[in-house]
Amino acid sequence: MSKYSPLYTSGGCPVDIATAMLRVYRANSCGKCTPCRVGLDKLFGLMEKVVAFKASTNDLALIRSLATSIYDSADCAIGYEAAKMVLDGLAAHEADYLAHVEKHSCTAEFGAVPCQLGCPARVDIPGYIACVGAKRFADAVRVIRKDNPFPAVCGLICEHPCEMRCRRLVVDDAINIRALKRYAVEQAGEVQVPKPLAPNGKKVAVIGGGPAGLSAAYYLALKGFKVTIFERRQRLGGMLRYGIPAYRLPDEWLDKDINAILSLGVEVKYNTNITDLDALRSDYDVVYLTIGAHGAKSLRVEGETAKGVLSAVELLGAVGEGKAPDFSGKRVVIVGGGNVAMDATRTSMRLKAKSVTCVYRRRIADMTALPEEIIGAQAEGCEILPMMAPVKVEVKNDSVVGLVVKPQIPGAMKDGRPSPCDSTKPETTIPADIIVVAIGQDIESKPFSGLETKRGAFVADKDGKIADHLYTGGDCFTGPSTVIRAIASGKRVAELIGKDFGVDMTYSDKVEVPPPSIAPRLDWGRVETSERSASERKGDFELMENGLSEEEALQECSRCLRCDTNGKADC
Ligand SMILES: Cc1cc2nc3c(=O)[nH]c(=O)nc-3n(C[C@H](O)[C@H](O)[C@H](O)COP(=O)(O)OP(=O)(O)OC[C@H]3O[C@@H](n4cnc5c(N)ncnc54)[C@H](O)[C@@H]3O)c2cc1C
Ligand code: SF4
Ligand code: SF4
Repeated sequence: MSKYSPLYTSGGCPVDIATAMLRVYRANSCGKCTPCRVGLDKLFGLMEKVVAFKASTNDLALIRSLATSIYDSADCAIGYEAAKMVLDGLAAHEADYLAHVEKHSCTAEFGAVPCQLGCPARVDIPGYIACVGAKRFADAVRVIRKDNPFPAVCGLICEHPCEMRCRRLVVDDAINIRALKRYAVEQAGEVQVPKPLAPNGKKVAVIGGGPAGLSAAYYLALKGFKVTIFERRQRLGGMLRYGIPAYRLPDEWLDKDINAILSLGVEVKYNTNITDLDALRSDYDVVYLTIGAHGAKSLRVEGETAKGVLSAVELLGAVGEGKAPDFSGKRVVIVGGGNVAMDATRTSMRLKAKSVTCVYRRRIADMTALPEEIIGAQAEGCEILPMMAPVKVEVKNDSVVGLVVKPQIPGAMKDGRPSPCDSTKPETTIPADIIVVAIGQDIESKPFSGLETKRGAFVADKDGKIADHLYTGGDCFTGPSTVIRAIASGKRVAELIGKDFGVDMTYSDKVEVPPPSIAPRLDWGRVETSERSASERKGDFELMENGLSEEEALQECSRCLRCDTNGKADC
């Protein structure tokens, strides 16, 4: 039972859900083989003990070994699938199981609106979907901004964890929550932000103008704080501008959100690289440190410093700055298997490379990139070469001429994926004029040597508090993550800063959300967004995703079950 199983959408207790599912498996056992007949019975008894807070850590060990043995020896899918479901649940929700046995309590988040629980910023999703359904688009944007000041950005590139929790998954498929956000933004035009309160005399310095810093600035400025953002680059946005390519997030869309935030009177000091935290702390009441993760991890292989080897952060940063290199006639090899690797791959194609090959040391199925990104890159003519580990960069006259790779074979399972191991096949060389390394980002925390770090990330409490009046958040606290997590972090820190100074941070831009309709929710499938054709989009940096039509958006809204109203309809 994965963390995002449809069965877990209600935001309920994962131990309870696994136990209920086990009951069903047990009832369906034909009883012919002992592992299933006797084993599932015993396993169910142990799981019931955990749910009832009567189990010990020894029982957890017993569950693991019993389930493993059932998985290995049951004769049919009833037995081994039941055991696998329990093992997967234990791996994905270990903290919940431990809370049951150690603290005798359930820490699962309960809530009637699972999509909202799935959104790190807790956006009122049914509220804005209802506004879109009533064609009140500006109100939809206002509802979103209550918790997330980046509706345009998130409408295009949010990884939408909310959809994995949508209750409609149990019926057919999740609501296309992200696409409806985009539709609301497109239809609403310019929507004024609420009027900020009068200055309260407190000054906040934000180091870094990415989504975390900008979100904190938004909610603080609304409440009368004087916010100054110190940004080392020429423009705001962080990785939204200097990482995510324009074909997924055009500058105009990003600027729409940033301009709304700045309209509250937020001051920005551009081209200002902060290294002296103490000086800033003495000039401001609070400092929020949100410098992101802009360093690049290196391959650590021979020849890596040759001309023609660069990191994905460098490549995408240059493109974001308007200094895109020309890859005409070049053979480009990208190393990595995540979303950043896909951005570098598809960007290289748009920079007119002769060939683009993405080399990855595991299987395509194990890539962390979104499947649609992989399929999209392949449709554009990029090659994905799995099961190849880089060995060294081949260099001639100080320039790269190829990447030597060692074929891999899947090894033992670790964290749900097989570890790649060297196979007996010989090394081969992939000819290359450019190699782009996309194997992860580092946090450039060295200038702030007075602060404690763990694997480069600043150490703070769970909300980002480092010390009195000093907070951190976003990628430099969590490690490279997602836009919506950075936004949520900025919002949370703004709330804490408000609390520090006795300022009520409750949001005031109230919108009356339409009541739910009693019309039956028809069994209609989910509407997906489409993309411009591969042959057309691979030649430019224009937005590649097409938005929803009115017909599609309204139909999608009508699928929402309005979980916020607990079944109460206006009838
Ligand atoms: C290529 C790429 C694609 C991505 N795609 C997606 C996606 O599709 N969806 C998604 O949800 N997430 C995506 N992400 C992740 C997302 O962009 C980040 O998680 C998010 O931007 C982090 O926000 P942040 O505010 O913490 O940091 P950043 O956005 O990195 O902003 C930090 C800011 O601090 C500034 N700064 C750094 N040091 C200093 C200093 N010493 N003084 C002053 N200023 C400083 C930087 O210039 C930057 O502007 C992607 C990331 C990359 C790299
Ligand atoms: S911001 Fe992202 S996670 Fe939150 S509701 Fe929108 S799409 Fe979902
Ligand atoms: S059906 Fe609507 S309210 Fe319910 S979880 Fe899905 S999007 Fe949210």
